[in-house]
Amino acid sequence: MTMSDILDFDRRHLWHPYTSIEDPLPVYQVESASGVRLCLADGREIIDGMSSWWAVIHGYDNGVLKDALKEQIDKLPHVMFGGLSHEPAVALGRLLVEMTPAGLERVFFCDSGSVAVEVAMKMTMQYFHARKESAKKKFLTIRSGYHGDTFHAMSVCDPVTGMHQIYSGVLPSYFFADRPEVGFYEQWDESDINSFRTLMEDHHQEICGVILEPVVQGAGGMRFYHPNYLRRVRELCDSYDVLLIADEIATGFGRSGELFGCDHADIVPDIMCLGKALTGGYMTLAAVVTTAEVGRVISSGEPHVFMHGPTYMANPLACSVGIASLRLLRENDWQGAVKRIESELVKGLAPCRTMEHVADVRVLGAIGVVELERPVNMTQIQQQFVDNGVWVRPFGKTVYLMPPFCMNTADTALLTEAVVRVVAGQE
Ligand code: PMP
Repeated sequence: MTMSDILDFDRRHLWHPYTSIEDPLPVYQVESASGVRLCLADGREIIDGMSSWWAVIHGYDNGVLKDALKEQIDKLPHVMFGGLSHEPAVALGRLLVEMTPAGLERVFFCDSGSVAVEVAMKMTMQYFHARKESAKKKFLTIRSGYHGDTFHAMSVCDPVTGMHQIYSGVLPSYFFADRPEVGFYEQWDESDINSFRTLMEDHHQEICGVILEPVVQGAGGMRFYHPNYLRRVRELCDSYDVLLIADEIATGFGRSGELFGCDHADIVPDIMCLGKALTGGYMTLAAVVTTAEVGRVISSGEPHVFMHGPTYMANPLACSVGIASLRLLRENDWQGAVKRIESELVKGLAPCRTMEHVADVRVLGAIGVVELERPVNMTQIQQQFVDNGVWVRPFGKTVYLMPPFCMNTADTALLTEAVVRVVAGQE
């Protein structure tokens, strides 16, 4: 098929994320990818500033990850997990128990981030069901959050930027505290937790769980909030007998400078959702990790089992590449790489700070954000980024970068220079 055949069929028949099928934005055909570069079908090579939505932390065409898959595909690419088990699931489970904060030790594997959020919310509900506390069925979350696109995940996404309007009447209605305003680097102000505290005080009899993205709010606005907010949330959950779900699907595995977002606040959630970078971007896989206590309580009450079991649960191929990805993370100095990228993003994006149409520039770990005063024109800006040799996909007013951890200094400089040039042209 020629490039124009491919793009033509794609345009007429394939739905892309958050896109009109009738009048879609242009897409670019990727032929291959290696290291931090995507090779387009028209021969251009562009630097990937997105890690394919947080996932590809070790870069593309990684020999170690490829070998893990090749070896596993000959042995056992898939088998049902009902009544059967296999070494890749056990080895990955062991790594997750070791790497996640102490106390998290029961692992549920599932297909994607959104499903992990559904699983975590179901665990929370079943925990109180088992305790015969049937009034505790609601969730409390914070505005500007994002947790995925399935129904219960949508119900805890920001009510304004999320999809609540379209699905009102179908989505359960939950409690939303004001979003945290004190930034990660700012002086903590105790009043930031007031809205959350009030909702907890007033409604804890109905609330079974709190769900939030620890420290970094991703798709809801790329905001970095103060770790003390998270500490207060943990304390309030403890005081009011509410489970805390940390959605680490985006933050997990080093992205924010700590292995997990929760580590910035030294807290341990009751349930942690993981996905995206878990397999280094090679296969879709997610995991929900919880405490022995949550597992014990769920199993103690009717129906004595946790009611979920996806067809591809703990898929051996996905688990094998997950093991390789986590081992690579441990062996490489990920923290050094993230620190270096952080300082390169701070320096490289600094020229945007003085631009009048830029509202804010912020960096945390290997995440760099340039927030504009007005929403960007997606078609135009996407083309400009590609023409400047980089893959950056903004949303709304937010231009953001999260490069693979293996990006070297020269490539980070090319990436940030391109962003500065394109952002300068948005006036
Ligand atoms: N939670 C967070 C914090 C996310 O960033 C995402 C994905 N952007 C999800 C959940 C949903 O994950 P998935 O797209 O794999 O369903």
